[in-house]
Amino acid sequence: MARHRVPTPKTGYEDCILAVRDLVAEAERTADATGTVGVGIPGSPNPRTGLVRNSNAVLINGKPLGRDLEAALGRPVRIANDANCLAVSEAVDGAGRDARVVFGIIIGTGHGGGIAIERKVHAGFQGIAAEIGHYPLPWMRPEEFPGHRCWCGKHGCLDMYACGTGLELDYLTATGTEKRGADIIADMRAGEVAAVAAFDRFVDRLARSLALLTNIVDPDVFVLGGGLSNVDEVYDSLPGRITGYLFGDSFATPIRKAMHGDSSGVRGAAWLWQD
Ligand SMILES: [Zn+2]
Repeated sequence: MARHRVPTPKTGYEDCILAVRDLVAEAERTADATGTVGVGIPGSPNPRTGLVRNSNAVLINGKPLGRDLEAALGRPVRIANDANCLAVSEAVDGAGRDARVVFGIIIGTGHGGGIAIERKVHAGFQGIAAEIGHYPLPWMRPEEFPGHRCWCGKHGCLDMYACGTGLELDYLTATGTEKRGADIIADMRAGEVAAVAAFDRFVDRLARSLALLTNIVDPDVFVLGGGLSNVDEVYDSLPGRITGYLFGDSFATPIRKAMHGDSSGVRGAAWLWQD
């Protein structure tokens, strides 16, 4: 019904809480009704302490975001990781609507994942289910070892490879030239050898991850979101590549583009209240 976006306040955590409070007030004025509040965040709340961790919006890390929002809004609030929200949004009425287990994967600025089972978030006991950005690149080759150093402090995390930033880093490493992800894709389409090779490595690395996830979770569908999910060539060669890594005879799982684009995170947050 309405869409309103504000920049994350740079002036501190308290101002973030006030910004969310004001957004809710504005939405309720627009709708002329009061409602439930769902929030999708980078990172996730620890299910036992309620404190947020792993967020690249670092000012919410270590904070009891849920409790503070509930105090500011005077009602219960549900919070989930933004990739989990993508999975829920696509499971309820998107690209995974016919599937029982939906694995949402973001290949955008960063790399992340979320699982929806029967249209509900599967956050896990630790609250970190499907945090796939920070396990190491599977089937790492000798020339890839130990992998790029990640912002999380470890080496070789998938977040350094299977996303736009990773594609740019790979191109820079191979050629010594800095190039934006969109330009690498354009040059790949134009047949530039280095861009074709970088994109090929990107798809192969993504395939390794999807093979591993299939061996563990074996979802009914993978739904891809984020900027690189709009590159049609990703879908051409991915299934064949996955088959090569899979512990199985062939890979038949559907891989679909997110239906709701970059709205899927906020839609999924709203769907946290579908009961
Ligand atoms: Zn990492």
